[in-house]
Amino acid sequence: MPSPIEKLLKFIRLEANRGFDNRAVVGGLDQFAPIWENEARQHNISPELIAKVSGYLHAYPAASISERDRMIRELFQLLDSVGSPSITTAQQQTAPPPVPSTGLTGNQPSQTSSSPVRASSAKTPASVGLQAPLTVLPGIGPKNFQTFKELGLKTLEDLLYYFPRRYVDYSELKPINRIQFGEELSIIATVERVNMYPPPGVPSRGKSRVEIIVGDGSGSLRLTWFNQPYMLNRFSPGDQLMISGRVDMYLGRLVMNHPEVEEIDRDHLHTNRILPIYPLAGKVGQRWLRRLMYQTVTFWAPRVRDPLPASIRQAAGLLTLSEALQQAHFPASQAQLREARARLAFDEIFLLQLGVLKQKQNWQANPARIFSAPQEWMDEQISRLPFPLTNAQTRVIQHVQHDLASGHPMNRLLQGDVGSGKTVVAAMAALMVAREGGQTAFMAPTSILAEQHYVSLMRMLTEPNNQESPPLHPAEIRLLVGDTSDTERTQINQGLNDGTIKLLIGTHALIEGPVSFHNLQLAIIDEQHRFGVGQRSTLRAKGENPHLLVMTATPIPRSLALTLYGDLDISVMDEMPPGRQPIETHVLPPTERERAYRLISHQVEKNYQAFIIYPLIEQGEREESRAAVEEHTRLQKDIFPQYRLALLHGRMRPDDKDRIMKEFRDGKYHILVSTSVIEVGVDVPNATVMLIEGADRFGLAQLHQFRGRVGRGDAKSYCLLIPQSEDAVENERLTAMAETNDGFILAERDLQQRGPGDFLGTRQSGFAQLRMANLTDVHLIEKAREHASALFEQDPTLSNPELQLLNQILSHFWGEGAGDIS
Ligand code: ADP
Ligand code: MG
Repeated sequence: MPSPIEKLLKFIRLEANRGFDNRAVVGGLDQFAPIWENEARQHNISPELIAKVSGYLHAYPAASISERDRMIRELFQLLDSVGSPSITTAQQQTAPPPVPSTGLTGNQPSQTSSSPVRASSAKTPASVGLQAPLTVLPGIGPKNFQTFKELGLKTLEDLLYYFPRRYVDYSELKPINRIQFGEELSIIATVERVNMYPPPGVPSRGKSRVEIIVGDGSGSLRLTWFNQPYMLNRFSPGDQLMISGRVDMYLGRLVMNHPEVEEIDRDHLHTNRILPIYPLAGKVGQRWLRRLMYQTVTFWAPRVRDPLPASIRQAAGLLTLSEALQQAHFPASQAQLREARARLAFDEIFLLQLGVLKQKQNWQANPARIFSAPQEWMDEQISRLPFPLTNAQTRVIQHVQHDLASGHPMNRLLQGDVGSGKTVVAAMAALMVAREGGQTAFMAPTSILAEQHYVSLMRMLTEPNNQESPPLHPAEIRLLVGDTSDTERTQINQGLNDGTIKLLIGTHALIEGPVSFHNLQLAIIDEQHRFGVGQRSTLRAKGENPHLLVMTATPIPRSLALTLYGDLDISVMDEMPPGRQPIETHVLPPTERERAYRLISHQVEKNYQAFIIYPLIEQGEREESRAAVEEHTRLQKDIFPQYRLALLHGRMRPDDKDRIMKEFRDGKYHILVSTSVIEVGVDVPNATVMLIEGADRFGLAQLHQFRGRVGRGDAKSYCLLIPQSEDAVENERLTAMAETNDGFILAERDLQQRGPGDFLGTRQSGFAQLRMANLTDVHLIEKAREHASALFEQDPTLSNPELQLLNQILSHFWGEGAGDIS
């Protein structure tokens, strides 16, 4: 019996002799493929070679004659170079191929790889193949491979997950007399005339137009191609074509410009379907890439293993992964496309959810010390505060109280808009812990903020009120920042070790120096997104399973919060303390900048202060800082010579920034000119104007943060937004800013307009992989969440053999420690 290689060589020689009519084998080469694969496997031919050959065989029928010619030649080379079957046996997988020039070099899937996906795949040849480099595909040589690498595509699996950027729906077929201007559709028609202007031979000066007239009995239509003279040779009168495109109008007549055209008797890849449009790079053409995708998807998608257990897939009403991949690339209908996207998005969210749940589980497996403050005592402490609590504050303090008494470490995220009064929650938490001798570390991102917290907590917790003695003694609260003196540090360390200090407030200094606690039971982190994962866990590691409270002023839409922080319990403060005046926001065109300056002057005359934020410049911090320096000089010299202006930018040393902020807060300056470094929650109650230049360049979340710098005192405050150019005055984001002061509403809009990027911060790792999931789709997120939780409840260690692949993908998706929380 001839070897499968020899047999196939015979067929393709015959095929070449017949002029590539796909009749060398009965039923065509694609029909022959499974038979050949089977034989090849029995002969121990390497899975890579089988995959590669099959790729050709399957793609063959849909290819044009010239493509078939090329494919047969490539296939011939491939098989010929492999030669006798003895060198394609399975052992070759672990040894370097003996024939280096076959194109198989480097095509062996890496056997040494430690990635879990690959490791898992070792058992199924088909999955091994998915990790094979793209060069196994017909038509991908070193040059194209480079282009694909730039797109981040290296393996077959990468390609399967390289989804279309958009689709054009050409699935509707109409007779010519029924088509209408603007429609995207397909027609079947016969070529009547072919013309070129100027006619062939006449100098065209680089400009030419090929026109063909097609008719279908109901009418005729002109198709035009500009500057593609080679199109002339593609058509001759009498050709029957499938034509897809957008119906356009020229001189009052319907036409199609640059339509997609295929011969009627071929498979239609580019016409009469929902056509995928892929993002492109380099010289890869859309049609070429589409064909490559078609071949890859048709062959490989059915061979993909589905990590999702069938029970979940069915309960959630999802397509199989194979179906979803096929439909996402070459949808049979809009409905199928939606289902495909839903399945793929589900996977992404589901993995994220499993990841965060695993985190939560790890976290909650630890016991924590119980702090159960009696309600009476709580009421008494609350009544001592300088103001009555808002309902939101009361509610959140109850959450914290409950967590601290639970026996498991609290792991709570407190979200509240700037000025909603989060600090008092921190104060009460620290107090509940101190009451039973526990220590609290409260970390803020800058020393000015830490000092601000120190001052307000001292006031709340150590000053006598209503004749009653205060809950803490001033010596029990200490501040540790970068410039705390050595003598003081020694004192602080001593107080921490002998337990006299109950609450230590500070900056990074809390984790940088040799600071150790006698009994750290609570870690509080303000503006948590300002800290890296590592910094937060260093703080936590200073105690044994301490309770954790993280606070953020960046409102996060609910759907996103669920996904991003599913491992945390979330409390939201959605209410402002009474008496706060809403900030008046105006969008001004750049030509009316004078008005903004006038308002600033008026306010400064009334002894208030103003911020001027200078726009974000893409070239980077250096340019941005330079622009701010120039602006500062210009404003000081030409606009506000009579006032004192301070300058703050990213290239300044942190100490200098802090000093300037403090001096501004203390009234040494009238106006602070700054780049975006100003963001953090510093309290300057005397500032009443926030002017933002180039406002259209900022995201809503950030604009809202800026605005939150003012309106912190009793006086009426203003936020003025000046866009880069006149046309941006109608900018949706700016309009939204003027419409509402509610950070959550703005956050929702920001998410819809700009995607989740602005909210991700340090959690980016898992999210970089979201390709399909739209984080604004609350319904989907909740569904994925429900199934993930249910699965987790049934099988907390995910040890069911059915979940093996899922488990591996999960650790791959989250990477090492990428999901650490807090
Ligand atoms: P956040 O940290 O959430 O931005 P803060 O805790 O700094 O807000 O509080 C902002 C200001 O509001 C502070 O001056 C604080 O004293 C004041 N404040 C907080 N809660 C109340 C309340 N319930 N009633 C009145 N003022 C409050
Ligand atoms: Mg704050």
